[in-house]
Formats: sequence, C-alpha cells, structure tokens
Amino acid sequence: MEWHSTGPEKVMDELGVREEGLQESEVAARKERSPNRLEKGDEVSPLRIFISQFQDFLIYMLMAAAAISVGVGFLPGAEFRWTEAGLIVLILLLNGIFGFIQDYRAEKSIRALREMSKPTTRVLRNGEKREVQMTEVVPGDIIFLESGSSVPADARLLEANNLETDESALTGESQEVSKETDTLDEDVPLVERKNMVFRNTTVVSGSGKAVVVETGMDTQVGDIAEQLNQAEERETPFQKEVDQLGHRLGYIILGVIALVTVFQVAFTSTGIITVLLAALSLAVAANPVGLPAAVTLALAMGSRKMLEKDVLVRRLNVIESIGSVDVIITDKTGTLTEEQMDVTRLHFKGEDFEVSGEKPYFSRHGHRTESEHLEPLLRAGLECNNAEKAPGEEDREYFGDPTEAALLKTAERAGLTGKSERSREISFSSQRKRMTVVTGEGTAYMKGAPEVVLERCDRIMDKEGVSELTQERKNELVNRADEYGSEALRTLAFARKQDADVEQAESDMVFLGLQGMIDPPRSEVPQAVEDCREAGVKVVMATGDDATTAEAIGDQIGFRGDAMETAELQELDPVEDRDEIIEREIFARVTPEDKVKILKAHQDAGRNVAMTGNGVNDAPALKNADVGVSMGKRGTDVAQQSSDMIVQDDNFASIRDAIEEGRGISDNIRNSVNYLLSGNMGEVLTVFFGLLLGGMVFPEIFSSHDEALILTPMMLLWINFISDGFPALALSTDPPTQGIMQKTESYRHRSLMDSEIIKSILYIGGALALMGMPLFFTVLRTGGLQAAQTALFTFVVLMEMVRVQAVRSKLGHRLRDNRWVVASLGWAIALQLLLLYTPVSGVFGVDPLGLKAFGYMAISAAGFVGLTWVSNRYLVDQ
Ligand code: ATP
Repeated sequence: MEWHSTGPEKVMDELGVREEGLQESEVAARKERSPNRLEKGDEVSPLRIFISQFQDFLIYMLMAAAAISVGVGFLPGAEFRWTEAGLIVLILLLNGIFGFIQDYRAEKSIRALREMSKPTTRVLRNGEKREVQMTEVVPGDIIFLESGSSVPADARLLEANNLETDESALTGESQEVSKETDTLDEDVPLVERKNMVFRNTTVVSGSGKAVVVETGMDTQVGDIAEQLNQAEERETPFQKEVDQLGHRLGYIILGVIALVTVFQVAFTSTGIITVLLAALSLAVAANPVGLPAAVTLALAMGSRKMLEKDVLVRRLNVIESIGSVDVIITDKTGTLTEEQMDVTRLHFKGEDFEVSGEKPYFSRHGHRTESEHLEPLLRAGLECNNAEKAPGEEDREYFGDPTEAALLKTAERAGLTGKSERSREISFSSQRKRMTVVTGEGTAYMKGAPEVVLERCDRIMDKEGVSELTQERKNELVNRADEYGSEALRTLAFARKQDADVEQAESDMVFLGLQGMIDPPRSEVPQAVEDCREAGVKVVMATGDDATTAEAIGDQIGFRGDAMETAELQELDPVEDRDEIIEREIFARVTPEDKVKILKAHQDAGRNVAMTGNGVNDAPALKNADVGVSMGKRGTDVAQQSSDMIVQDDNFASIRDAIEEGRGISDNIRNSVNYLLSGNMGEVLTVFFGLLLGGMVFPEIFSSHDEALILTPMMLLWINFISDGFPALALSTDPPTQGIMQKTESYRHRSLMDSEIIKSILYIGGALALMGMPLFFTVLRTGGLQAAQTALFTFVVLMEMVRVQAVRSKLGHRLRDNRWVVASLGWAIALQLLLLYTPVSGVFGVDPLGLKAFGYMAISAAGFVGLTWVSNRYLVDQ
C-alpha cells in the first residue's frame, strides 16, 4: 500500500480505525501480527559472547600451558601430565562459562535498561488519550506528536501544525523537514513524503496527529536496522584497561619465563622437565583469568544499585565516569525544584492580584476579586497552552508542560475551559522563549518571558481600554516582573492580537499582563548540593528563567554569587574567558548553545562534567558532556536518547546518589584488581625466587627431583581457582564507604592502575613471597619437598583471607560487615581442608599437614599480617 498517495479517510478505512482510535480489544491481535520491534541487530548472539571469552592473550597462555603439560610426556623419562592439562582445560571452561554468564547478563540488563528508557507515545484508544510504550504501538493507532517526541512507527499524518522533524537517522541529511497532510503523487521519493512521519525520527518543533501504518521491521528504518546497532561502544574504560593489562602481563610473564629458563640452564643442573614445568607454573601463577569477569560483574551490579536509587544507566561506562565528575551543570526547573507549579500572583491592568488554591481563588489585598475581571489574561493562559487534563491517570492530573498545566489550572478556577480551534501554533522553545497560537477566529495569543513578549507589543490593555505601550510603561512592567522574580516566582507575560494575520502573528500585540508561579526547591536539594560541594564537585545552575528568579531560588538552595545572563555570556569565549565562566554558579536565561559554552569552558579547564538537559535542542550538550543526564519524567525522547543516564525521579539528589554509588563501584573494582593481582604477584615472586634460591641453596634437591618446584602447576591452578572465584566477586558487593563524599581529590580522572594500586600490589605480593619462602625452606629441611610444597600452598590459600581484608580495610570496611566476603572466605577454607584431608590430596600431590607445619605457618602468617598492615598504613598513599 502506498500510504503517502492515499487520502487520510481511505488510509483509516484501510486500517480499520475510526475517529476515536482503536478499541483496546483490537490491539492485542494487531500486536501479535505486527510487533513494533526491530529484531535484527538488537542482540549480540550468545555464541559470540561465549567465543569472545576465549579470545584473550592470557587465555592463550593457559592453553599453551595445557599443551606443554601434555607435551612433556614426549620427553624421555617423563609422563603425560593429563591431570594438569585436564585441570587447566576445566578451569578455562569454568572461567569461560562464568565470564559468559557475566557478560551475557550485563548485556541483557543494559538492554533491559534501554528498553525501560524507550520513549512512550500518546495514543488515542477507545476515544481517550493514553500513554503507552513505543513497543505497544500497533498499525491503526492514532498517535500525537509534539516537539521533542520520537516517532514510534511509520505513520500517515492527519494533522500538522508547523510540524518539523529531523530525519537524519533515516536519510543522513541533518536538515529539518517540514510536514503537511496533503496527499502526494505515488512516485514521490521517500525523502519528500511530507505527509508521512517515520520511525526513529524526531519531532523538532510543532505538533501533529497521525495514524500508524507500519510497525517494527516493516518500517523504513526496519530495512536498515541491522546497520543501526552496530557502532555501539561496548567496553568501558576500566574494561579496556583490564584488556590492555592482560596483554602487558602476558609479555611480562613471557619475559620472566625466559629469564628463569636461561638462569636454570646456565647456572644450575636442573633437568629439562623441571625447566619446562617451571615455565608452566609461572604462566599459571601470573594469570589473573578471572579479572575481566570480576570487572563486568561489578559494573553490572553497579547498574542495578543505581537503578535502586532511581538512576537508569544507558551505558555501563557512565558508572565509572559519574564517580569522577568535577562539575555538575544542572537545570533548575523540575531538577532542583518540585515542578509542582502554581500561579500565585497576577498583574493585570496595572494592579496585582493574589491567587490561592482555595476559594476565593482570586483576591486583591485580601478582598475577593470576580474572576470575570481577569478573563482576558486567564484566557490567554488557556488558549496558548498544550497541557491537558489526564483522565484516568492516577498519578497525575495533567499531561504536558507543568508551566502550562499551572496556567490551565488557574483558568479552570475562573471557570474557563474548552480551547478554541487553532489555525496556527508557533511552538515554544528555549531559544524563542515564547509561544504563540492563532485561533480559528483569528485571535493570536502569545505567552513567554516578559522581556520577549514586551518587545513584540505596542499597546496595552488597561482599565480604560487599550492604550499605547510607552517605554515608561514597559520599564514599569519589567520592574514588576523583576519583583515577582525576587520572590522566586517564575513569571510569564501574556499578549494578544485580534484579526491577526496568520503569518505575522507575533508583532504589534496588545500586552495583557503577568502570571507568576511558585516552584519551590525540592526539600532534599540544598543538602545534596552541599554534599556535592564537600565531595569537591562544583554545582552550577543553568536555567532558562530570568536572573532574579534564578538568584532567589539559588539563594534558597545555597548557590553563591550573582547570576550571569545570556547576554553577558554571549560576549565571552569559552577558552579565552574560561576563568570568568567557570567561577560562576548561576546562569540565567540560558539557551542550549549557552549550555554548550559553559560545558566547554569547564572541559577546557580539564574537568569532568555532568550536564543535565531535557529539551530537543539539548542533545549536543548532552552528547558532549562527560556524563549526559536527562530526566525520566520531564526529558523529551530526544534528550533521553542522547543521554548516558536517566534520572527517573527528575531529582537532583539522585545525581548526588549516583556519584556516591559510582565512587563506591570504582573503589570495589580497584579492590578486586588489587586483590587478584597482588595474589598473582605473590605467586610469581614466590615461584621465581623459589627456583633461584632452591637451585642455589638446595642444589641436591633441586637437581635430583624431576618436579623440584616450590609450588606445582596444579597447586597454582587451585589457588587461582579459589581466589579468582568467590572472594574476588564478593568484593564487588561492598557498599560505598562512609565519608566517600568527603574525599575531594582522589576520584578525579581515576584510572584503574595508578601508582597507589601498583604499589599496593607490589607490597602485598612481595610480603606474601617474603613470608612464604622461609616457611617453604624450613619445612623442606625437616619434612621433605612434598610437605614443604603443601605448607606453602596452604599458606598462600589461607592468606587470601588476609589479602581480602587488607584491600578492604584501607577503605574502612570491616570483615563482619559483608556476609558475602565472610562466606567466600569460609568457602576457601572449606575447599582447602577438603583437598588436604580427603583422597583428593593424591591428585594434587599434597601431604596432610601436621601441627608443626601449622606452627610455622602461624609465624609466617603473623609476619604477613604485620607487613600488609605496615604497607597499608605507611607505604601506600591514602
Ligand atoms: P531550566 O532550564 O532551569 O529547566 P526552564 O525550563 O524554566 O529552566 P525554559 O523552559 O528554557 O527554562 O524557559 C525559559 C523561559 O521561557 C521561562 O523563564 C519562561 O519565561 C518562558 N517559558 C517557559 N515555558 C514556556 C512555555 N511553555 N511557553 C512560553 N514561554 C515559556
């Protein structure tokens, strides 16, 4: 069916839909037939995720290790070490499966989060407007479009008021396309089908009504869906760092292996089998295979924790960046304030009136005022308005912009309802700061920022009738608006013109008056702003409201200094005049371009910036910010889709919570890295020095034994199996530490491997080797090789408890506060006992340990605890 060349009635007939929209009962069957989903490209295949678990340098090394264990068997006098090879393969598989589960779940949860952040659409069903998820839209649905909304499916327009859409997602052309309803010729190409709107495009301005003709894969974008989801950035900076780290570690291990081999061959009489096994154990010892999965798990858990705090992350990497922001540039309305707007003051015909929520609604100096007296001003508020009552919606009274809802409510209090037919609407935008409608009878109504409206008026409605609007009068009105502003009222001016020319509706108007509305700050916001400040995060308010209102509200919240207005800002250059811009805390009457400028100035100063934005035109600011934040209720679809995270309750305090969570998660990830790598470091140093010392101090043992290693590959595999599993993951469950929001510096531009963490890994790893070595050689002297290996092996496993607590205690976590950590340690001890005192011991070649060995172990353990304490306390920067 060529929808664009078919008249609206025919289209509706064809789709079996009437004026009042579809019946709810018809929807299910249609949804079944034509679901509004883009199936292709939406998912990464599970198989690909599974295979990717094995495409890692460190994994290749372990595979090589498995090959060596079997390959040794070809040497004369040696046997095939199937158990080792089998165990390595088993560990690789387990790790692969585990990593797959983490990645797959993370992928799924981020997709679920995306799904939650998918735009909703207003549809007409059973004659009533209701809001449904975009995926619920079916062919035949009548949909309503307004500035900032995403088009949910391909649809034929029924009405269009100055409707313009951005079709760049579809055509690549970033020019706005204006839409109309006329039926077109059949051969009109796609880009010129002005009576159609298409899925994945957005409404830039105006409004309209359309009937859905195609959904899901049948839409124009369905054809190219496969290409669409490809370019996604899937790895976060931490994950990339872990990847790089893996590579680097791989090379370091190869270097160490080469060194040890050369040493053994040149200076000792060690047999070739031991040399090969030594290489094998080093490759195993240094391998933090579980690291990528631990990081993914921490991030995925982070996204869940944030959701509990009403913050929906759209990309995993924001979890890292939000913890390190230095500046938040935030809107005022709805984010810092309640957005429960109510008109409380009117200025009309030179007089001020009070408005209250109870009867008498309108009064002057405490005396009731008849609402008829105020009719022209209140009618302008009613006509120039797109808000609507929301019937049947429990949690809200009105659809649409709360500013407009407040005006509607006030008009209703005066008994005014029912808008006139319109012949034109010139929409509100943050740049225009005004909105105008022309009714069918030819009356134009305008509302907007007072200075903007006054500029377009030459007359004023007065007690005596309509008179000339002199400059003096204009000044008076500006002062009055200012006065309202200083009471923290958001003030709008109103004007009208009869017999307006539709094209010239916004000039030579008659000024009507002012309506001032309260919008109190949210009660938790002053504290949240203070908390951010303590955490070293500067909070900047950039509002579309005027300077006096902004300063008055700012004062209530705790912002400092005067507001800078857009006029002043426009004179400044974000780089040259950077300092002037970044020291301000309040910006007033800002446009979306101004926001980008403020953002650039802060970024130029090397700061990480989180920026909030809700309008269609905020997309550039949101995309350029380090963390783009949009609001769940107030944000337009366009803003939400351009942002990195969505604050579902619109509340600034949730951004503060997200910073706290982000910092906590970043700490946890670093703890996992520290814990895992310090273990590997300890193992490598132990094996390395064990071989060197062994070869020199006990040449008779080390050259006569085929397996004269300080720890066998099997033991090292076991150690890594235990530590890379449960304990490393338990570390991701720690909550943010107390006082995390009082640290001003340490979270800025944080990387995974900074000097602090490298030092910590070296010290803890070094201490482990330092204390393990004497233990080994003492037991070796008295009990033989196997007993010595067993003692050292058990020591390393048990010291995992100390290492876990060493990395945690630096942040003030106590052991008993996290049951997962306690459980993971219990698990490790239980497994170790099982290994020592059951027949499994044969497989691992361990001796059950006697009391004496435990005695030696206790001494080494005390030394290790002491050394880690000293390192935490004095050696690693806090
Ligand atoms: P913030 O950016 O802090 O959320 P805001 O939402 O108030 O502030 P804008 O929506 O850009 O900022 O509004 C700027 C100015 O435009 C307001 O101060 C008001 O004077 C005027 N204005 C706001 N909403 C409307 C509207 N629906 N119609 C006409 N004018 C409006």
